[in-house]
Amino acid sequence: MAVVIVGAGMAGVQTAVALREQGYDGSLVLLGAETHPPYDRPPLSKDVLLGKAEHSRFEIDFAGLGVELALGRRALSVDVEARLLKTDAGDLGFEQLVLATGAAPIALPGQPASAFLLRTQDDAVALKAALRPGTRVAVVGAGWIGAEAATVARQLGCEVTVVEAASSPLAGALPAELGERTRGWYAAAGARLITGAAVSGVERDAVWLTDGTEIAADVVVVGIGARPDNGWLAGSGIALDDRGAVAADAFLRAGGLRHVYAVGDCASFPSRRYGERLAVHHWDNALQGARVVAANLRGGEVAYDPVPYFWSEQFGHMVQVVGHWDAGDEMVARGEDTVLWLRGDALIALLAVDRPRDLAQGRKIIEAGARLDLTKAVDPAIPLKAALA
Ligand SMILES: Cc1cc2nc3c(=O)[nH]c(=O)nc-3n(C[C@H](O)[C@H](O)[C@H](O)COP(=O)(O)OP(=O)(O)OC[C@H]3O[C@@H](n4cnc5c(N)ncnc54)[C@H](O)[C@@H]3O)c2cc1C
Repeated sequence: MAVVIVGAGMAGVQTAVALREQGYDGSLVLLGAETHPPYDRPPLSKDVLLGKAEHSRFEIDFAGLGVELALGRRALSVDVEARLLKTDAGDLGFEQLVLATGAAPIALPGQPASAFLLRTQDDAVALKAALRPGTRVAVVGAGWIGAEAATVARQLGCEVTVVEAASSPLAGALPAELGERTRGWYAAAGARLITGAAVSGVERDAVWLTDGTEIAADVVVVGIGARPDNGWLAGSGIALDDRGAVAADAFLRAGGLRHVYAVGDCASFPSRRYGERLAVHHWDNALQGARVVAANLRGGEVAYDPVPYFWSEQFGHMVQVVGHWDAGDEMVARGEDTVLWLRGDALIALLAVDRPRDLAQGRKIIEAGARLDLTKAVDPAIPLKAALA
C-alpha cells in the first residue's frame, strides 16, 4: 500500500520530493490528469508565452526518486474509509492520500471554443501560436493572469485591449488605489485598458460590453480567475469550504481524517497567524504546504501557518506581495513603490514594486512578528531592517 498523490502540479510534485527528502522509502504514486511530464505554471504566462522557453518541465528525476508517475490518469471519486481511489484507468488502493488537484480556470458563460484560457501548458502553447505582430488581442480581466498575458502580447507586437469589470486593475487582490497605480503601465506599454466594463458576450472575433461597445479581436483571452478543482470529491464526505476548496485543518488534514491531506490551490487552511481561513492560489503556498504535508504523512504534527508570498511580472515591473491583510489593517506608504500593512505596530503584509530588498527584509520582519518604528519605516532610504522598533 502506498502514498497516492492526486495531482501532479507544483503541490503534488513537491509533496513527493519532500517525502523522499524526509526519508519516506515506501511506495509513492503521483497521479496526474495531464499527459505532459509535470511542469511549473508561472513561466506559462511569461517565458513560455513569449517563446523564450519551450516548456517549464520540472527538472526532477522521478524514476530515480522512486516516484511512480501515472500521467494522463484522472481520479474520479474516492472512498476514504475503504482507502480506494476510482480513476479512469481502474481502481487504486492507498494507505495515505494527498489531494493536490489545483484549480481550474473560470470561463465566461457561452464562451466560444476559440477563446483562450491560460492555465495549462497546452493553453500557453496554443495561445503563443496565435500571438503574431499586429494580431488584435482582447483580454478579459485585468488580474494577475490578464496583466501578464497583455504584457507578453504587447512584447510580441500585438494590438492589445484589456477589459475589466472593476474600476481598477488587480481589483480582486489589491485595494483600488494600489491597483490604479498600474493603469499607467498599460498606457506606457501601448495596451488599451478599459475598466468598469462588464462583458456581455464573447464571439470568435469580438468581445461585447454591456454598454453595447464591440471590441473587435482576432484572439480573445479570458483571465477571470480559477476555482479549486474538487468536483470529483462530491459524495466523498470530504468537506469543502464556501469557495469550493478542501477545508483542511491546521495540519492540512482533510475530512477530519489522519490519512488524507490537501495542499496547494485546491485547499484552504485556518491561519492562526491571521485569524481566518486562507485559500492561497500562489506558487509558494504549493511549495511550503507540500513540505508540511510530507512531514505530517511521516507522523509529524506540524501546523501550517505560512506568511503567504507571491510575485507577478507585468509591463517590466516585478510586483511582490508578502503577508495578508484585511480592511481593518492600517495601510502606510513607504515612498512610491512599497506599501506596508500594520496591525498595531506589527508589520503584517507588504507590497513592493521593483523593490526586492524591501520584500526580503519585510518578509523576515513579518515572519518574526517584529514591530516597526514607523517614523523610520516610511522613509525608503532607510533599510526596513533598520526600522525595527
Ligand atoms: C499561467 C499562470 C501563471 C502563474 N504565475 C504565478 C506567479 O507568477 N507567481 C505565483 O506566485 N503564482 C503563479 N501562478 C499560480 C501557481 O502556478 C499555482 O498556485 C500553483 O501552480 C498551484 O499548484 P497546485 O499543484 O496546487 O495546482 P496545479 O498547478 O493546478 O496542479 C494541479 C494538477 O492536478 C491535476 N488534476 C486536477 N484534477 C485531477 C484529478 N481528478 N485527477 C488527477 N489529476 C488531477 C491537474 O491537471 C493539474 O495538473 C500562476 C498560475 C498560472 C496558471
